[in-house]
Amino acid sequence: MFLKIDLNAGRVRKYTFDKKILKEFIGGEALATYYLYYNLKKGINPLSRNNQLLFFTGPLVGTSCQGSGKCGVYTKSPLTNYWCASYMGGMFGAYLRRAGITGLIITGKSRQPANLVIKDGKVELIISKKLWGKDTNDTTDYLKKKYKGCSVACIGQAGENKTLCASIITNKHRAAARYGVGAVMGSKNLKAVIIMPMNKLKLFDEENFNKTSDNFRKLTQKSTILSKELPEHGTPFFLDKVNKHNALPVKNFTLTHDEDSIKSKDLDKYAEKSYSCFACTAKCDKRAVIDGKEYGIPEYESTGLLGSNLLNHDTITLIKANDLCDKLGMDTIDVGNLLGAAMESGRIKWGDKKAILDTIKKIAYREGIEETLSKGLIKTAEEWHAKNLIVHAKGAGFPSYNPFNAYGMGLHYATGNRGANHLTGYMALFECLGLPISASNNKSTHGRVELVKFLEDFLIMFDSMILCKFMPAAYTGLMPEPVFNFVQKIKVDLGLVALGLKIPVIYPAMDYLFSDLLKMLYYSTGNKYNMKSLVLLGEKVNNLQRLFNLREGLKSDEDNLSPKFKSINIPLMVKKYYKLRGWDENGVPTREKLKELKIKKII
Ligand code: SF4
Repeated sequence: MFLKIDLNAGRVRKYTFDKKILKEFIGGEALATYYLYYNLKKGINPLSRNNQLLFFTGPLVGTSCQGSGKCGVYTKSPLTNYWCASYMGGMFGAYLRRAGITGLIITGKSRQPANLVIKDGKVELIISKKLWGKDTNDTTDYLKKKYKGCSVACIGQAGENKTLCASIITNKHRAAARYGVGAVMGSKNLKAVIIMPMNKLKLFDEENFNKTSDNFRKLTQKSTILSKELPEHGTPFFLDKVNKHNALPVKNFTLTHDEDSIKSKDLDKYAEKSYSCFACTAKCDKRAVIDGKEYGIPEYESTGLLGSNLLNHDTITLIKANDLCDKLGMDTIDVGNLLGAAMESGRIKWGDKKAILDTIKKIAYREGIEETLSKGLIKTAEEWHAKNLIVHAKGAGFPSYNPFNAYGMGLHYATGNRGANHLTGYMALFECLGLPISASNNKSTHGRVELVKFLEDFLIMFDSMILCKFMPAAYTGLMPEPVFNFVQKIKVDLGLVALGLKIPVIYPAMDYLFSDLLKMLYYSTGNKYNMKSLVLLGEKVNNLQRLFNLREGLKSDEDNLSPKFKSINIPLMVKKYYKLRGWDENGVPTREKLKELKIKKII
């Protein structure tokens, strides 16, 4: 069941998708793309009551499948002005689905600060100023006490103040962090969504679903990544790998390696507690206890952006900076990029521990020079006349992989429909992590265009069934550990890997490899899919998102990286990318392509 909540009138009604649409678009990202393209009016102000904020689950969410606890948040971004999606782990998605709700569509604006409470299948909008002004930790503690056993997704002061890098936080440290989704929630005067304990989930064939999910879980337990690296170190285990591959953001992305960088083991020393998302055993959410207080240990992206990128080599400052961002409800990636620009401009000293923490607070409260920073990277560059300092694509700061030594990642930052993003075209696997193999030359363009397009289309399925993006790592469990360790040392020209995409048996081979996922999708929905149909769906969704962005005024010169990166010839790769996608020289999907994908274009 989907619910449409009109905050203007405080009214809730069921929203029904056509059965054919539900079958084709599955859920999560694909369905949200369909909905927003056809239902959001062109040109609306993302922070006005006309914007819509979607919390969607997918057919795997809330099931026994490992990694199935995530929830997607979708809207028009106030940071980029384009389509956006951001995902949060924890319990929220699973609780929502187990409350019998597949998705929430939130429209309008509440007259006054309010919380949305979902209990026993009913939704109530409760006007309350009590929590306005409180951070996400205090808000969560208060609501968890009041609604025993609930899950909370809330904003902090940054969202209330409509800071453009504001996030939505659940479980205190799990974030739908990116593209200002928290500012959209704040603009609706919505402080928190609270979901009360769950019912049993109805699946098409529960018995077979559970058998298959058991198999899948066993496979995850054979994977070194899911059974060792993540449980022992959390995502910061990437840090040493990326530094070794010379692809770390260092000194506002001017360098790619930091000999003095904080290491994964430095953070391990502080990790006293570990938490998992719903139905997961990987426990990658680490917490530190310092002077009797609990702090969230930063994930990999935050360690790079708030650590080496700022020449911050102090582990405690890194932990506190990350924790502060979570409490105030801000995206550590964009904050790290904003602080990097402020340091490179000379406004703050490199690695200044006190200034890092003070500036983070001021960005959330929009005070002093930080009022400029709170408007995002593009506005900051305009106001400071400093286009060369900022690091972004379509206004979104770069994640923690430095394109100076990862050309494929750079291409995807440029072409991504959300702006710079790592999880939608994850070339970092080959260029920065060596998982499972490494690119032989990170500064080569060989195979990048083909692989970026393929990954962009392929990965949509995970955000649509909604499955944690670490779960495909389960398939490394098919290799015995010594073989996996050996494979990781292999370096390959990515041009050869891209050639592999043309092998005629590629899709049957993928059907075989991902058979557990395909089965679970069937046992959950009763609909049969194969990998070819899912990759094709990914292509359709990417085209719909592109049309959404073009309708909002996107120009082809925005498919690029900020001027600092002009030595990487992104425009040349983008030209080839357009051709491969069947788009014209301005990056507009051709009539033939839309016909092939059965897309009805609207204006
Ligand atoms: S791997 Fe980590 S982020 Fe993914 S579902 Fe498990 S605990 Fe959550």
